[in-house]
Amino acid sequence: MYNYYPLSRSSKINLYPVEFAKTEHIIVEEQNLGPASKEMLKNSIDNWNKALRGKMSFALKLAGLESDSHQIVFNNDGIMSKFASLKTNKDIEVFSKKYGLLGIQQPDSIQVNSQSPAIKATLQSSYIFTNYGFSIFEPIELWKWNINEVQKILRLYHVVRKTNSDELINEIVEIKIHRGMFGSLTEDREIMDRYFIHWTKGEAILMLPKDFEEKTMLEIAQYTLAKVLESHISGGINLSVGDLISKPPTKGFMITEKRYTKYLLAAIYYDLWQTINDSKNVYLCENKNCRLPFIKSGRKKYCNEACKQEAYRIRLEEKEGRDNL
Ligand SMILES: [Zn+2]
Repeated sequence: MYNYYPLSRSSKINLYPVEFAKTEHIIVEEQNLGPASKEMLKNSIDNWNKALRGKMSFALKLAGLESDSHQIVFNNDGIMSKFASLKTNKDIEVFSKKYGLLGIQQPDSIQVNSQSPAIKATLQSSYIFTNYGFSIFEPIELWKWNINEVQKILRLYHVVRKTNSDELINEIVEIKIHRGMFGSLTEDREIMDRYFIHWTKGEAILMLPKDFEEKTMLEIAQYTLAKVLESHISGGINLSVGDLISKPPTKGFMITEKRYTKYLLAAIYYDLWQTINDSKNVYLCENKNCRLPFIKSGRKKYCNEACKQEAYRIRLEEKEGRDNL
């Protein structure tokens, strides 16, 4: 029942229909799904509801059987840009109907029902919204968290390419001291102070290795960029045999590799990784109410058509304001 998203070249994939719904309106018994999927949907809604402490609004969900699926030609190139520019619920709905669910599995029952503080601590966005797996129901909060994550990574990439000013880098990532037990083995566990990289005014990204403590902010930011990308790609990408190419004179042969993923979100992060490796330029939308990062193609100044129009309106209003002085 998996969809395989090709990463090496474009090819046809089968997609199950996806629907956008208000979570409280979903009646599991009335869904056009097989009995096993209904059971899974119920469990998924329950567990997400607990993990998000009842704060679910909308969600994307599977809306049909295999016989209702449709085919698309999937090309990974550019998928990240489309994802990063999703703004409204409507945008997210259209994207998910076209490309499918992201492929983040629901938190498991032991995790959401546990009273243990150590297990409860794993119910953070950075854990539960990044756990690749088969899914039939995804809260919109999960989508928005990842859209925001891609945007933050693009901003970090943009700033490390453009500047070595600590001040500008600190607008994206900052260093904080945490006091706690950080050793992985019981005998190493003692209370100590360690430096952590955070998104500025946001979540922790990683613990700074000891040998980075003396490095410049630019080096730390580059390291963070590499590690955050690695964390999103690992566990999501598969390698398979592509073609066997024989070399007759030597009787040898070569096997080409083919990359693919079962999860749309991993395809998105893989495209982000490649965008960065190809040294593509990131620009910030010139609409001052937006300033979202985007990959420039041609002479584009705005992330989308709506921003172009809004910027035009703002210019007109500013002009009128000046004329009325
Ligand atoms: Zn914009």
